[in-house]
This record gives sequence, C-alpha cells and structure tokens, in this order.
Amino acid sequence: MKKYNLKKYDLIVIGTGSGMNYIGSILEENPDFKIAVIDKDEPGGICLTRGCIPSKLLLYPAELIRTIGTAQKFGIDVELKNVDFNYIMERMRSLISEDIGSIRIGLSSDPNVDYYHDVAEFVSAYTMKVGDKTITSKMIFLCTGSKTIIPKIKGLEEAGYLTSDTILEMAKLPASIAIIGGGYIAAEYGHFFSSMGSKVTIIGRNKQYIPEEEPEISMLAKRDMSGFMDIVTGYEVEEVQTTAVGKKKVTARGEGNKVDFIVDEILVASGRGPTHDILHPEIGGIETDAKGWIVVNEYLETTQPGVWAFGDANGKYLFKHVANFESRVVFNNAIMKKKIKIDYHAVPYAVFSYPEIASVGMGEKEALEKYGQTNLLIGFQKYEDTAKGHAMDVKDYFVKVILENNTRRILGAHIIGPYASILIQEVVNLMYTEQENPDPIIQGMHIHPALSEVVQKAFYSLVPPEHYHHLLGHMGLE
Ligand SMILES: Cc1cc2nc3c(=O)[nH]c(=O)nc-3n(C[C@H](O)[C@H](O)[C@H](O)COP(=O)(O)OP(=O)(O)OC[C@H]3O[C@@H](n4cnc5c(N)ncnc54)[C@H](O)[C@@H]3O)c2cc1C
Repeated sequence: MKKYNLKKYDLIVIGTGSGMNYIGSILEENPDFKIAVIDKDEPGGICLTRGCIPSKLLLYPAELIRTIGTAQKFGIDVELKNVDFNYIMERMRSLISEDIGSIRIGLSSDPNVDYYHDVAEFVSAYTMKVGDKTITSKMIFLCTGSKTIIPKIKGLEEAGYLTSDTILEMAKLPASIAIIGGGYIAAEYGHFFSSMGSKVTIIGRNKQYIPEEEPEISMLAKRDMSGFMDIVTGYEVEEVQTTAVGKKKVTARGEGNKVDFIVDEILVASGRGPTHDILHPEIGGIETDAKGWIVVNEYLETTQPGVWAFGDANGKYLFKHVANFESRVVFNNAIMKKKIKIDYHAVPYAVFSYPEIASVGMGEKEALEKYGQTNLLIGFQKYEDTAKGHAMDVKDYFVKVILENNTRRILGAHIIGPYASILIQEVVNLMYTEQENPDPIIQGMHIHPALSEVVQKAFYSLVPPEHYHHLLGHMGLE
C-alpha cells in the first residue's frame, strides 16, 4: 500500500441508513471532524430504499382494498372496479427516489463529509479500500445492514426468483406467486400481492406461521389470512423447475407429502443474513459470530476498540427502530465518551399484515422459563368485547399481556387486530418507566369508545397461565 494514497478521517461510517442518524450532532460536537460516509447502494439505507418505507407504501393501498372488502357487512354497497398495480408501484418508486435524492444532495454538499458510493472492504485494522481509494480512521461505525439469504434449492437459480429488493422494480402483477418463507416479510408481501389480485401461496418451513409470534396469534393469523391466500406450513421447498409453458413448478415436501405448486413468479423471503462477505471484518480484527453477524459488547463496541457496530449488522434485532435506538447508544459511547449499556428488555415490532400483529418484550414461553408458571399472570381482552371493537365487527382479535406476579412488572404484550402497531405503544412506553408496572394504564382515563380500551381492559383481567389456556381452548386456539 502506498502511504501517500492513504486518506485519514476522524470517523468512517459504512451504511447510510441508521449510520447517518447522528452525523449532524457529531459535527456539532466536533466541527473540525472529517467524516467518510460509504454506501455501495443508493443512500438512505435498506429501510428507505428497499425495506420498511417502500413496503409500507405498497401495503397502505392493500389495507384500503381489504377495508373496502368489509364495507358490505355495514350496509355499504361498493364495487372495487380496478386496481392500478403500475400506479401503486410507480407512486412508491417516485416517493422513494425523492427522499433518496435529497439524502444524496445532503451528503454531497457537506464540506466535512466525503461521500463514497462504493464498496468498503477492510485491508487491515482501521483501514479499508473503497473503490480505488484507501482510507483509515481510529473510529469506525459499521452500519452495514443485512441482505436476503437465498436458500440452496435445486433449480431455483435457473428458474429465476424475486426478492424483497427486486419486487420493487416489478412492472406487471403476476397472476400467481409462491412466497418461499413464512415469516413477517412473507406475511406482508402475501397481503400485498393477494390484495392486488395475485393468487398467493406462502410456503413456510416452520410448522408455525410467522414463527416469532405467540402460537395462538400465529394460528389466528393463519386462519384469517388463509381467506386471501394459501398458507402451507411445515413444508420445505426442494426443487424449482420451469414448465414447458414458462411457468415455475415449485415442489415442496412436508408431513410425508410432496406437493407441486405451479406459479408465474417466486418471491424468496426465507430470511436475512449478514453482509460480512464483502466487508471482511476479520481482516480488520473484528470478530463475527458463527452466522457472520458482527460481535459487539453491551456498549455496542466490536472486538476492535474504536470500531462500533449497530443496526442489522450486529444481528440482534433486525428492525429500523432498534437500529435508531442503538445509534443513540453509540453516539453517546463513541462520541460523548459515556458508558451506556444497550437495553433490549422492551423491543417492539409490528407485522403490517391483514390482520396486523404487534409485540413487545417476552413471549409466554420465555417468560415461563424465566419466571415459572406460578409467578406469571396473563391478561387477555378481545377487541369485540369493547364498544369500538364491537362497532368494527372484528372477530377473535385480542390483546395479551404478560406480567410477573410478584412485582407486577410487565414482561411482554402481544396484539393481533386492527391498529395493533399503534395500540402496543401504550404498553411499550410503560415498559420504559422505572417500575414497569401497569398502574398508569389501569388508572389513566381511556377515551370511550376508543380501541385503546381493549389494551386497558387486558390489564383488568389478569389470570394464571392455565386459566388463559383454558380460555384459548374455547376459542379453538390451543
Ligand atoms: C422488506 C423489508 C421490510 C421491512 N420492514 C420493516 C418495518 O416495517 N419496520 C422495521 O422496523 N424494519 C423493517 N425492516 C428492517 C429494516 O429495513 C432494517 O432493520 C434497517 O434498514 C436496518 O438499518 P441499518 O442502519 O442497520 O442498515 P442500512 O443502513 O439500512 O443498510 C446498510 C447499508 O450499508 C450498505 N453496505 C453494506 N455493506 C457495505 C459495504 N461493505 N460497503 C458499502 N456499503 C455497504 C448496504 O448496501 C446498505 O445500503 C424491513 C426490511 C425489509 C427487507
């Protein structure tokens, strides 16, 4: 390496998603800092360019279509005449590219920032190659995100497939689509394509649909979403072939059966993994775990001092709000020289499917393992047993809360039903109070008749787990 080619920075940031969060504050604290910001893709990160934002721009029209579909039962006679798939896709693309454009301008016009639109690769500790440049810094933020993992399935490469990245370029709605994977991306895109008019088949390897959820929530989600698409769980896709008429034959095996699905397109949504193969963190003295995620300590520092990893890159929780939360911890620890530990006790997330699902904290299984059967209380409330839920005529959707009996500490909450992602926030906020108990929700007035009553009422009806399961049995969800 020629020394004169080595450009020195005070900070190198790889990834323009959450990596960008504190650039302004960092420069306020250190106006003389020179920062290198690197991204091989369009600036804005996965959330903006191919994750949360485009998917939600597509899912909102999908939600409208499903809502219109319920109008009849309220005496409203509507007819859905046409869904303009191209308009919906184009709207998504143009809104995204506006945002990408303004981020690019911001990055390119800051005199303290050198923006590299290229791949970064470690060549030694604290030093990396970016295109034909070699740059170095004693402080590096690795915010390199994650990528779709393509499973090794015979014939898949030859037949061709889509991913959550490539579907954003689609110009034509497929008449039928098989989604390989039964997790949250599959549930969301299954909802989207089915509402647009495609015949959707979701093929999940795990017996449980959306396996991260409480089993009763997964069961209810599968029951209701099966009204719009075929959901096959406990089946492993073994082979893909192209038929004589140019369709794709997907062969899956499970429960001793072999099933073929003939479809126009395949979407692979079977998991996400790290991007270490292009970054080569090991050359920079940075450890990765068995799967390739970057190992960090409780301050989010990697095994190489001064090198920090946050967001998907550390493989903890692959959500944008987690990445944002972690970026604040790293700003405080790396720049403000504090010692703040990361706290994951109340990580919320939502699946924007139809019905919507949201969760925070522990599931019942984990709570049982940690606190024992006799030290748990479960609160449960159905939407339909509140005035607003009744008015909306929703069936079986519910709020479940899990508390530690001795301390009355909220351990987790799980919701399936309309606006679950909004309703859960009340519980999330309580989990960030000192006591973490439900008193404010129990004592605070709740607007009547609003859906928030369903969350409050769940805390009124706390019972031991066995009573709760008895109740689930009556609902056919055991
Ligand atoms: C379809 C989909 C839907 C999603 N929906 C949601 C949702 O509703 N809510 C939610 O919270 N989360 C959602 N997520 C997850 C969310 O997008 C991620 O958790 C978030 O974007 C991670 O941010 P980050 O800062 O870790 O990485 P990002 O900054 O977003 O991405 C890392 C960037 O670094 C670049 N990069 C990686 N390696 C290198 C390298 N060596 N050199 C140069 N550049 C590199 C990548 O190309 C990428 O642009 C979704 C994800 C997907 C795929």
